[in-house]
Amino acid sequence: MTTDALDQLRADIVEVGRRLWTRGFVASNDGNISVRIAPDRLLVTPSNVSKGFMTPDMMCVTDLSGGLIAGAPGRKPSSEILMHLVAYRERPDVGAVVHAHPALATGFAVAGIALDRAVLAEVITTLGAIPIAEYGTPSTRELADSVAPYVKAHDALLLANHGALALGRDLFGAYYKMETIEHFAKISLVARLLGREHLISREEVDRLQALRGQYGIAAPAPICADPLPDGADVDPSCQVVYAPNAPGERLVPDTSVAGGPGRLTVGTNGEIRLTYAQLTALIDEAVRQLATRT
Ligand SMILES: [Zn+2]
Repeated sequence: MTTDALDQLRADIVEVGRRLWTRGFVASNDGNISVRIAPDRLLVTPSNVSKGFMTPDMMCVTDLSGGLIAGAPGRKPSSEILMHLVAYRERPDVGAVVHAHPALATGFAVAGIALDRAVLAEVITTLGAIPIAEYGTPSTRELADSVAPYVKAHDALLLANHGALALGRDLFGAYYKMETIEHFAKISLVARLLGREHLISREEVDRLQALRGQYGIAAPAPICADPLPDGADVDPSCQVVYAPNAPGERLVPDTSVAGGPGRLTVGTNGEIRLTYAQLTALIDEAVRQLATRT
């Protein structure tokens, strides 16, 4: 890579950091960014800096085991570099990694709700599903190990009780995926607050997947033919998207999410799920009925 190209990448990382901070995707010194500059060399944001106030000279150069090759005096690569290294090792096609804590996506990660429902055509064609990697202590091998099975088939994932991770062929590609994760989380939250989600049918999901090929959208893995049963191990070869079978239909009213009062959720294993509001309403109703009987 030429010196000019490297200087441009340093400036681009500063710009992406500024956008993450400006959009509220990070607070304080949260988040980290890396770019592959050679098969075994990365340009990585340093630890302990706000991503909104970086300068190009701050970046660290590391090898693919995280060892510091070059950097400004006193600067160390991000403490989350282990998670980035896993992404580069598992996915030779990945050229950049962006990690942040956008509030809405992280809210889903805290609630344990994956963004894996067939809701937005755009998300199905670009990201597929956004699963949640199990919780691992930040900056440790545990977190890196928890994301490893997911990065094989996904460009975007949530990190349980932590944040989100986006992988891209290049820096802005990874950054835009982080934007899409947060935008999808925002839309999903609004739909659920409004009380219902119409889901895109499995047939239409298949059609959207075909568009990936038509438009040359690089996806790390195809969408799984059918949702895996509850409790099944992660299938590293495909993306699990929840889409109901409804031949001839494109959109299907969903009964398995929050719903209005009285609308109950029946999971694929037959369990009934209630939101807190629904549970409260049921208890109130039972108490009312008891009161009218006495
Ligand atoms: Zn983090």
